[in-house]
Amino acid sequence: MKLDIHDIKNSPGESKSYGFDEEYPKFAFMGEEIRFAEPVHLAVTVTNIEVGFLVQGFIHAVVKRVCARCTETLTDEINSDFTGLFQQEKESTSHAGEEDEESEDEDENLEVYSYHGNTIDITDIVSDTITVEISMKPLCREDCRGLCPVCGQNLNEKECSCDTEEIDERLADLKKIFSEKE
Ligand SMILES: [Zn+2]
Ligand SMILES: [Zn+2]
Repeated sequence: MKLDIHDIKNSPGESKSYGFDEEYPKFAFMGEEIRFAEPVHLAVTVTNIEVGFLVQGFIHAVVKRVCARCTETLTDEINSDFTGLFQQEKESTSHAGEEDEESEDEDENLEVYSYHGNTIDITDIVSDTITVEISMKPLCREDCRGLCPVCGQNLNEKECSCDTEEIDERLADLKKIFSEKE
């Protein structure tokens, strides 16, 4: 996902807008494979602010997830704004050791990315935005009943004949015994 900035590169204060839909590759997130159900829609404005380029954008994406309880596939919609500062990649010079200087805190909590040449690659800022937005524990529905712990039946689809209630009752009895002993 590269943006051509050559025409605003030497004009501080100038900005340029881009809008596009792009196929986005699947990626791994917390051990889960995240796939996109449709091309990712992006609207981005890049402004030359002398110290770098301010990138302000909006993303709309639909990702395919797996329900954390019943493992059914579900889709999760993302609609989010993002902002980042792109600064020219530092040429590697002979002054090794100077690189450790932290240049953060320059801008109020702006995430800083680097670019070189006449293009800004927004792949990283887009991935960062997506991973912040998607839920850690997606559910196909709020009250998903999950899978039976005994036979694995998806309890949203049908009841199984496993006696999980008896286990619950025995646990309750155990708890009673323990609380009586106190
Ligand atoms: Zn579910
Ligand atoms: Zn069962």
